[in-house]
Order: sequence, then C-alpha cells, then structure tokens
Amino acid sequence: MCYKAKKMKFIADFHIHSHYSLATSSELTPEHLAHKANVKGIKVIGSGDFTHPKWTAELKEKLIPAEEGLFKLKEEYKLPTTAFDSQETRFLLTAEISNIYKKHDKVRKIHSVIFAPDFEVATKIQNELQKQKFNITSDGRPILGLDVKKMLEMFLDISDRILFVPAHIWTPWFSILGDKSGFNSVEECFEDMSKYIYAVETGLSSDPPMNWLCSFLDKYNLLSNSDAHSPDKLGRNANIFDTTLSYSSIINAIKTGNPTEFIGTINFFPEEGKYHYDGHRKCNICFNPLETIRHNEKCPVCGKKLTVGVMSRVAEISDRINPIERKNRLEFYSLIPLKEILSEISGKSETTKEVTQVYNSLVVKAGSEFNILLNMSIEEIKNLGNEKLTEAIKRMRNREVFIKEGFDGEFGAVKVFGKDEKNAGVKNMLFAETNFETTLTPRNLISFDLEEYHKLKLTFKKEPEKDIIIEKTKFHSQVNEEQEASIGHLEGALLIVAGPGTGKTRTLAFRIANLIEKGVSPENILAITFTNKASLEIKKRIKSIVLEDKMPDVATFHGFGFSILKEYSTKLDRTKDFVIIDDKDKKNILKKIGVKENQVNLIIDGISKVKQNLKEPSDLKDSEAEKIFNIYENILEKENCFDLDDLIYQTVKLFIKFNEILTLYQEKYKWIMIDEYQDINYSQYQLIRMLMPDANPNLCVIGDPNQAIYGFRGADVKFINKFIYDYPASKVYQLKKS
Ligand SMILES: [Zn+2]
Ligand SMILES: [Zn+2]
Repeated sequence: MCYKAKKMKFIADFHIHSHYSLATSSELTPEHLAHKANVKGIKVIGSGDFTHPKWTAELKEKLIPAEEGLFKLKEEYKLPTTAFDSQETRFLLTAEISNIYKKHDKVRKIHSVIFAPDFEVATKIQNELQKQKFNITSDGRPILGLDVKKMLEMFLDISDRILFVPAHIWTPWFSILGDKSGFNSVEECFEDMSKYIYAVETGLSSDPPMNWLCSFLDKYNLLSNSDAHSPDKLGRNANIFDTTLSYSSIINAIKTGNPTEFIGTINFFPEEGKYHYDGHRKCNICFNPLETIRHNEKCPVCGKKLTVGVMSRVAEISDRINPIERKNRLEFYSLIPLKEILSEISGKSETTKEVTQVYNSLVVKAGSEFNILLNMSIEEIKNLGNEKLTEAIKRMRNREVFIKEGFDGEFGAVKVFGKDEKNAGVKNMLFAETNFETTLTPRNLISFDLEEYHKLKLTFKKEPEKDIIIEKTKFHSQVNEEQEASIGHLEGALLIVAGPGTGKTRTLAFRIANLIEKGVSPENILAITFTNKASLEIKKRIKSIVLEDKMPDVATFHGFGFSILKEYSTKLDRTKDFVIIDDKDKKNILKKIGVKENQVNLIIDGISKVKQNLKEPSDLKDSEAEKIFNIYENILEKENCFDLDDLIYQTVKLFIKFNEILTLYQEKYKWIMIDEYQDINYSQYQLIRMLMPDANPNLCVIGDPNQAIYGFRGADVKFINKFIYDYPASKVYQLKKS
C-alpha cells in the first residue's frame, strides 16, 4: 500500500531557549513548553539549546520520536490542558549559538539558529565543539570565539541536512546586520558560504516589510521566531506552514519559500522594541530616521549624539522606498498577544488573576490563543460573548492601532483603544455592551518619508563610531599589556577576567590611581570588595601611588551597605547605633520565638535566601515559616538590629522606597569597581544595577567565572557570564599571569 502523509496547516516557532540558558525561566522544560505551545495553538516548536548535553539528555528522556525528525512528549509527562489539541505538540531540534570574533579589525558578535535532523547530528555537533575546547555546558546558548563562517563549514561537514539561519538579524549588538558589531551584508560575513544560507530571522525588532526594503535580502526567506525566555512568550513571532509534518518538509519549505507550503509569518509589532526609533531619553526626544538625519544625529536639547535605533539601521542600508517592490513576499500578520489586549481592556496588568482567568476561559471556548487572534471569524469571536474583545481583534487585524515607538532604551506601546475612548480600561467593563467608533486609518507599512531620507542620506556624513583610545598610562613600565589596557580604559563598562596570580589587586589599584590622575574626583569613585583584607590592601596601594588627600571609597559589600543604613537609619525605624547581629544571636531569637532546635538552621537558611533574592516573607510557600519570618523581623526592628543580609536587602528596599536617596548615590558614584564579581548574589547584583542604570556605565568588574568561592552565600556565576549581555557595549580584557 502506498501511504502518502497528508498536508496540514500549522504554526511553528523554532527559536526558543531551555532552562539551561542564562536568564531564562525555570519552567522552560519539555512538559511546560508542550503545554504552553498547545494553549497558544503552536504545533511545532524548536527544542532550543541542543548544544547543551544536559538538555539533550532531558529531551531524550521526556520525548519519543514522532514523524521523521520530529518528537513528542511521552504520555506520562503531559500536563492537564483545556486546549483542543491535547498537547500533540511536536519538537524539532534547534539551538542558538553566539559567535564573538574579529574580522577586518572589528569585533563581530553574531547569533545564529541551527536546525538538526536528529539527536545523532546534535551529539556530533556537541562532540566537535568540545573537542575544540569550547565551553558548551555553562550556557544553553554558548559563546564561541570562532568565525561564524568557519562554524557553518564545520557543521555542514557533520551533516548537510542541518539548516543554518542568522538570528534576529537587526539587533544592534548580536546580529549579522546589527549596527554595532555586524556586517553590511550576508556575503560580507559568510563569503563563499553564503550560498548555504536560505533564510534569515526577522527577530522581534523587525517585521517583514522592514526587511523587504533591502533588495539584497530578496534571496533569503524570512523566518520569524519568538526567542522565548519563558513559556509565556512562545509564539510572540511564529511561522505558518502548509506541509506534511516532518523535518524534511519543513526545512524544504523554509529553503524554497514556496508560498503554498511556507504560508507566511506572525509578527508582533516591532515598534514596541526598546530601540526601534532614535532619540535621547533624558531629554525626551524621540525621532524617526528622517528626523534624526535632519538633526545630524544630535539631540536638539542637549547636543549629545542620539541613540540610533533599528529602523534607522534598516533605512541606512535599504535601497527601496516601497517595501512591496519585493516580489517573493509571504503573508504576514501583525498581532498583539491576547493577554496584552485583555490587559488593555481591563486596565489590569497581564499577570493579574483577573486577566489570567479571562484568558483561560477564552482558550477553553476557542481552543487556542491563535484561533482567536488569527483564525476565527469576527462573527465567531462575537459569539464568545465579549464585545470589546471582538472590536479589539477587528482593529488589530486591520492594523488600526495606536503606536508609540520605543527609543533609547524605553519600550514602545501598541494600543487598540484611544485615550479618549472612555470605555476602555474601566474596571468591570469587560463584558459590558458598548458602541465603538473608530476613526483610525490602517497603519502604513513604513510610517515616515523614506524617499526624503534616501535623498538626505546622500549628503549626510555619519560620524564614525569612536573606538576607545587607550593612552599609555604612568604605570606603563610596571604592568603587562593586558593590565595596561584595563588600567587605561576610562569610560564605559569593562569586564576583566582574571584568575589567581594575575596581578588583579595591583591592576585595580593602578586603575583607580589612573582615573584620579586623569581628573576624576576620588569622591566619585567606589570600589567594592568581598573581604576586609582585600579592601585594606587596595586602600594601602592607592595611598602609596596617589598624592591626593582625598581617598576614593573602598569597602566590602557589607561595609558599603552599613554606611548607607547608618546615614538613613531613621527611615527604616532604627537609630544610628543599630547593631548587626550574628548567627548566634539569630539562633537565640528564633529559639525564643519557639522554633524547635532541629528547625533553627533551616529557618535561618530560608530567611537568608529570601533576603538574598530580594523576596518578601509572603514569598515563602509555607504560612508557618512566613509567620516566624515576620515575628523575627519585628524583633529586629524593636531591638534596633539588622542581620548581615539586611545590609544589602534593606539598602535596596531603602532605594526603592526613597528614590531621591538613590539619586544622591547615583550622582555621587560615577565610577564603580567590583572585585571578585563571580561571587556576587542576586541582591548585590540588583544593588549595582540600581546604582548604574545607564546602558554603558563606568562599571568595571573583575572576576574569574571558574573561581567562585562564596557559593554558600548564594553567589551565582551566571552574573559574570551575563555581564556582556547586561552591558553589550562593554569591553572584555583577559589578564594573564604577570
Ligand atoms: Zn540571540
Ligand atoms: Zn539630549
């Protein structure tokens, strides 16, 4: 019998991450992913992170083979669901890799998504990377110091069935066409290997029409994925196919872009992105690319260079005025996530119980989120009994939406209802019958005069990016080249990777001395260490080099917190002579409250964890423990005490409650240095983020991810690994043995 698999229409989202990637949700497990994909109405999802051995082990344990190259969840792992497809979600093996390397004298940071046909190929890729001594176990999205073109060659040698897709191609810092560390074309990056690139990913920062403006992208099909870091974000971008369910058919559809098989993409509005337009947040200036070029990329209020966003980058290398000049266009649908719509209608945040309840009940009736957003007729949606939702979806599908573009780090907003439509956002109006009158016209694909932009561009000279120039320092003869560079680097974030015996303390002291030498006032400098010993040593060294009377503040994290609490003790209902209690005092207090001997250490641990993670007593799942915690806190207050964790915990709370105090410290410390950065915990990390909120602050951290010693204090090496993502403009120096 000749059996031919049937074609079906389905939605797929390939670029996601697992709980092994940095800064991702712990719920990124196969069972939660399958469940959430099901609720959203996504049939095929990428596994994400197949380069991580532990993740592939988990996938192998929880999945079984389905159609060719696809997998599904084992019956026993399925979570209860109300969606219609009862978790017949398919998994397809994908991974994202970050390549950082130098080409033509410029540092390149490129992300790519790789599709693998089976576990065998995934394992071969893992083995090859490990053979070449790359670290693939500390991050689900590994960073490789390898030319991405060479990596493509290497992977194709392993299997010619892999698909290689440049990821989110317009993000400024981590993509092939990105403004900061990318290229001006696919060919410049992949050279003769470009012929193996069939598709590129739009990412969240661009939609298909933006890409259609560049004729050099015509030969690549446009794929759209969510890059989800939590199950809730699945399907923010996605693809629609009409093929048989199998790896080969899907890959073939992506490669050919045949519109009867690769139907199109689902894209949420890129205008919401933090860097869509250009501008200067402090001066409240937001410009489209044309306005920016008219102002010579300068802020008209303060004269500083504007932060230039993604749309400007697209305009800069575009060669079309009208996006629909591209012939091989696929369908694309601009959607707003259902929870965002419900949140706008109810005036409640997306995470509230109220919105979640309405969302869940709608999914029960409609089968999935995408059924509502995309498939059901307006008449059918009306039958769900929600008049406002019906109107919202009608407007969204017609692109009749209000948009405020994001710029210079500030998120944009897309709204369905105008400010003066009073019935939107009123409590309990969700099911009320109302009449709507919309005066909006559908939004254009491109909303500024690109023709005028192209004319002006001919005469506009872009100021070249200033490379950091590091001058010779006074300490030139006493240090090696890498030490010298980290000492001489004056402004902007830097990470100094330094193991034991590399002259770390000396480098830090010289760096502070050099800042003072270059005119930075010592009062504006703060250096934080982990031990008093390190603190004293740095102070001693600075004293021996610097002639000034004034010294910068050098303290341990605890000492720093202590000095702030001392200054503002009354704001936290203590007097200036508050006492810091130790573990013995803690035990005594808990025993007095009536905690059993064998429970004391457990409770101490629990309290400490809550404080180090900036949580509240109510976050403890156990109501008895919560009660003890609250009594304990009351006693500390009554006795005019803090515990050791409070030195950071209460300082952060103080800053949150009294913004003006935080501002004082932000204005004082313009340069901050942190020693042993691999040892910081979450509360310390947040404290630093609060003190230095800018995108590229004068923050210098020193550490060695392989040397974390403060594990028992909740230290987390992920923060040092995350540094280059927190501060994408940062420079990294590696100190070698001196
Ligand atoms: Zn990425
Ligand atoms: Zn300005």
